[in-house]
Amino acid sequence: MDHIDIKARAKVNLALDVLGRRPDGYHNVRMVMQSIDLYDEVRVVSTDGDIRLYCDDKSLPLDENNLAYRAAMLLKERFNVRRGADIHIRKNIPVAAGLAGGSSDGAAVLKALNELWGIGLSGQKLMELGLALGADVPYCILGGTALAEGIGEVLTPLPDLPKTWMVLVKPEIDISTKWVYTHLDLDKLTDRPDIDAMVKAVEDRDIRAVAENLSNVLESVSARRYPVIEAIKNGLTGMGALGSVMSGSGPTVFGIFKDRAAAQRAARVLAMEYGHVYVTSTYNDRV
Ligand code: ATP
Repeated sequence: MDHIDIKARAKVNLALDVLGRRPDGYHNVRMVMQSIDLYDEVRVVSTDGDIRLYCDDKSLPLDENNLAYRAAMLLKERFNVRRGADIHIRKNIPVAAGLAGGSSDGAAVLKALNELWGIGLSGQKLMELGLALGADVPYCILGGTALAEGIGEVLTPLPDLPKTWMVLVKPEIDISTKWVYTHLDLDKLTDRPDIDAMVKAVEDRDIRAVAENLSNVLESVSARRYPVIEAIKNGLTGMGALGSVMSGSGPTVFGIFKDRAAAQRAARVLAMEYGHVYVTSTYNDRV
């Protein structure tokens, strides 16, 4: 076997709360994560050469600033691997969108090279290693539905949700994660996400309760500065979404729909106003 094709899946946050800032600058969080059926297509080839990265999105770096490249270098250096790799990425996940596209590419490369190079790390060890690349990488290795605590690396798998249809809308604004956290004033917040209610909704496999409990503490920060966030939420609800929320640090907003047809109807209308609209569903087949 000299190559592996792997789908690097995006995630959404069904619920996201920030508990506080740690002395090292990271934030302790509690979030319910969900993989979705929107993915980058990643081919990893084991070679005799160096680590080389190819990507159809020419705006992305191809060096150590790319998490996929960094993932390969991390394994190579940590385990003194003599072999190299060609990594080909077809980007389908919008970049800097709150969907963990980069983290997922990094996770996919770790999984693929762990096999191709015969390193043989367990899933748990691979997740521990992945944390060095970013707080979302361990979850991206695990996938499915999960509660993430700590800085995102303390993971508790949750029962699979029934397949649930969603519409994602990414507005044409750039929101940096750093900016959102800088403007988050936890002391001033009265309305906090109920993470336990979301966990229960997932455990009950109750999509309506999931939709009702969608909540993101970072949304208040982004929505205050960018009215388009609220406008998209209203648009989704107006088109029949059972609930809607911003994912991660944004700016992507998603809504949950009762079935595929309802999601497609809403997407057709929203696409007249917004450039990046995706119909997708939850994805729960853990690797
Ligand atoms: P998160 O939800 O974890 O905050 P995100 O979806 O907001 O992530 P990404 O798409 O992962 O953001 O990209 C954020 C930045 O990371 C981009 O500015 C990009 O230059 C850089 N980056 C590094 N590697 C990648 C990659 N493989 N794909 C996309 N972006 C990458």
